[in-house]
Amino acid sequence: MAGRTLMWWSTGAASAIAAALTLREDPAAIIARCETNNEDPDNYRFEADVMRWLNASVTILQAETDRSVWNVWQRRRYIAGINGAQCTTLMKVAPRLAFQRPDDVHVFGYTADRGDVERFERLRETYFELTVRAPLIEQGITKAATLAMVERAGLKLPRSYAMGFPNANCLLTGCGKAKSPRYWALYRKHFPAEFARTAAYAREIGARLTELNGERAFIDEIPADHPTTDAIVPACDFLCAIAEQDLASHPAPSEIEGGRP
Ligand code: SF4
Repeated sequence: MAGRTLMWWSTGAASAIAAALTLREDPAAIIARCETNNEDPDNYRFEADVMRWLNASVTILQAETDRSVWNVWQRRRYIAGINGAQCTTLMKVAPRLAFQRPDDVHVFGYTADRGDVERFERLRETYFELTVRAPLIEQGITKAATLAMVERAGLKLPRSYAMGFPNANCLLTGCGKAKSPRYWALYRKHFPAEFARTAAYAREIGARLTELNGERAFIDEIPADHPTTDAIVPACDFLCAIAEQDLASHPAPSEIEGGRP
């Protein structure tokens, strides 16, 4: 019997078109997403719209105990460091490993833009034991094209695109792996209350999440007039998790000076 097709849905435009292509090829494909309970509400609205459009549903994967990024950060008094982020490990890697089978085909929404092509190649090399596909790359579809295709389908894009976020991961806290002061300045601009909560907690545990003038800095040290364009935030995909795969060898947060070393 052929293996399952697992399409890793991310609540974004590229993912929507990749899911549509995947279902056209294999109507039994599983549209899967690891739940962080940390997404912007408009992402969930977009997800519902896309699933109605595709006449499909999302298979939600989540751990038994770790169901909130904020709680993971608090329980371990740790956000992210050189060894990665526990939120990825516990809420994305662990549920995926528990769900996947050796003969699954993993489908991703990487686009035909150069950065995505390179990332997909790295993923293929890193996870050589998995069968992986990227239908948008196979068909030469760029990110800009996916945005246009989604709009032509009558779907309203998630609001985070208009805000200027390169990806919409974890907008209820901000992504703990983001080092870019432009990202945090943009996050503060659009989500001031959520920014204040994350900034206060980072102070409490001594986590200098960003860099200013070549020095590690607390995110509340970012000047009020700091630029917000070209914000950078890592994709939280399979590659993001490589450093965190080995739970057993991961140092406890208390061993890393309360946060990012
Ligand atoms: S997007 Fe960032 S904050 Fe969210 S799970 Fe991934 S690493 Fe953690």
